[in-house]
Amino acid sequence: MEIIEKAPAKINLGLDVLYKREDGYHELEMVMSSVDLADRLTFETLPEDKIIVETNKAFLPIDKRNNVYQAAAILKERCGIKEGIKISITKNIPVAAGLGGGSTDCAAALRGMNRLWDLNLSLEELVAMGIKVGTDVPYCLYGTTSFISGKGEIVQSLIPMPQCWVVLVKPQISVSTRKIFQQLKAEELPHPDMRKLSEAILNQDYASMIQYMGNNMEDVTIPKHPVVQQIKDRMLKYGADVALMSGSGPTVFALCRKHSRAQRIVNGLKGFCEEVYLVRTLK
Ligand code: ATP
Repeated sequence: MEIIEKAPAKINLGLDVLYKREDGYHELEMVMSSVDLADRLTFETLPEDKIIVETNKAFLPIDKRNNVYQAAAILKERCGIKEGIKISITKNIPVAAGLGGGSTDCAAALRGMNRLWDLNLSLEELVAMGIKVGTDVPYCLYGTTSFISGKGEIVQSLIPMPQCWVVLVKPQISVSTRKIFQQLKAEELPHPDMRKLSEAILNQDYASMIQYMGNNMEDVTIPKHPVVQQIKDRMLKYGADVALMSGSGPTVFALCRKHSRAQRIVNGLKGFCEEVYLVRTLK
């Protein structure tokens, strides 16, 4: 039997790094939402007790450095499964882009194995396994639009954000999330109000949502990578309602209520960057 699971990318409607904790992690408040750009995972059982991960991107690790491999190892161990598994990942989400690709693949792997082996594991049980792989995995298991706090592991589901078009632009640079965290001084950064942003979403107030969107990691990433600001400026020039960096970058996204505006941004940015995607928010 073969089953398929979709793994949607996330965008940060808001990201506030509050302060550095005693344990070395940063205390965060974020609002994330899923979009319909997704990786696709297929699952197949194997008679022999082993884990095989395949992907269409040759540069990605397929051993225990891959989040999906780790998810399979944790779930098999936890549930005492002696059968093997082959998971094939078709990557459509840009890697190391601030779109949560590895985390959403891990979440999809947990969901898929739960179905494949009829395990009836609850969302909470999947979250407990997912957190061992990465702090964004719990959000990816809950999905839709959520308010996230702690080091990323405390997830409170909101209601889906107001529907709109999303233009994603990924410049050809790599940003190391770890380095950005090492360099930032939270006390020197502006702090966007994530609670007001959540309220705006709960009220389905698009104008107010846009007003409260913000990401204080931009203040660290943009001085090192001015192309992020250039993309934001172009998006606004072509009519974006708002333009913001996702996660620690480098992907920038624009929101538009009108499809014609979103298409204009796509056309305007295509000559500037190779990777441009026009997607919808997920309900
Ligand atoms: P985030 O927004 O959570 O910071 P990201 O989009 O910046 O995530 P990922 O796409 O998750 O970053 O990739 C980060 C690193 O994780 C990559 O360098 C990659 O080698 C590793 N990785 C492990 N498993 C996967 C996977 N299934 N898909 C993508 N990257 C993976």
